Amino acid sequence: MKIAVCVKEVPDPGPNRRIDPGTLRMDRSGDRSLNAYDLNAVEEGIRLRDAAGDGEVVLVSLGASKALDSIRKGLAMGADRAVLVSDEAAVGSDLVATSYVLAKALEAESPDLVLFGQQASDADGAVLWAAVADRLKMPVISQISELEVADGSITAKRQTEFGYDRIRTSLPAVLAVADSLNEPRYPSLKGIMGAKKKPQDVKSLADVGVDAARAGEAGSRTTVISLSPPESRGGNQKIEDDGNAAQQILDFLVERKLV
Ligand SMILES: Cc1cc2nc3c(=O)[nH]c(=O)nc-3n(C[C@H](O)[C@H](O)[C@H](O)COP(=O)(O)OP(=O)(O)OC[C@H]3O[C@@H](n4cnc5c(N)ncnc54)[C@H](O)[C@@H]3O)c2cc1C
Repeated sequence: MKIAVCVKEVPDPGPNRRIDPGTLRMDRSGDRSLNAYDLNAVEEGIRLRDAAGDGEVVLVSLGASKALDSIRKGLAMGADRAVLVSDEAAVGSDLVATSYVLAKALEAESPDLVLFGQQASDADGAVLWAAVADRLKMPVISQISELEVADGSITAKRQTEFGYDRIRTSLPAVLAVADSLNEPRYPSLKGIMGAKKKPQDVKSLADVGVDAARAGEAGSRTTVISLSPPESRGGNQKIEDDGNAAQQILDFLVERKLV
């Protein structure tokens, strides 16, 4: 079984994330890592391949060429190879353009199964898998907390607000896994050393048959017009610690009936 897992390099979560005021895009120049939600998808891909006894797990990504540094974590976990679409003309791709490029890269691989994480921790859209499935004309199941693949079909337990759905579909299919599905393994030292030698193909838009006019800013349907910080709620009270700050905080909370 050939399994493609879509993975994304994201800025490290934390207070230092910022939007570049010049481009109105996320500043991706600081520390970066593989999107944590994608680790569940990589883990599941490896488990399914190993249970099937044959096949391969291919990591597929759209991003800057330096994204390979993060993608190698998936190879270190046990994925077989990586395909990164990286092209200056793809910079500024919104959801529509990103889904088009990824769908073309996936078409070139023609996998039996396409796995996604539930969301990316930078943009948090939790929707890309649906757009890709639509382009590939494949069925999609999201929020999967249990998964079984047998005889060319998939049965999945899907978490919902009110309980669970059990859904069955045939292959090929797109699946977005919940972070409750499994516990991603830690890469072993041997895995980390071996990852460097696994095939890592960096492809241009032309290599995957993408019309550059449909990627990047040119191919995006949305434009960020402006950004501004949230308005201050006002009425803040600053407590300086002159020895009785704890008492002052307690008085503040008691006054508002919060303790
Ligand atoms: C105007 C505009 C300009 C933008 N410019 C850029 C830009 O220059 N560079 C940039 O990185 N982003 C850019 N973005 C953000 C980018 O469009 C989104 O990251 C992308 O559409 C995916 O949405 P998401 O991150 O919310 O993913 P979600 O829908 O939350 O992700 C679901 C799953 O999709 C997978 N996934 C998400 N993104 C990728 C990817 N690129 N490759 C492989 N798998 C992926 C992951 O498995 C993830 O778990 C821009 C967005 C807008 C609106």
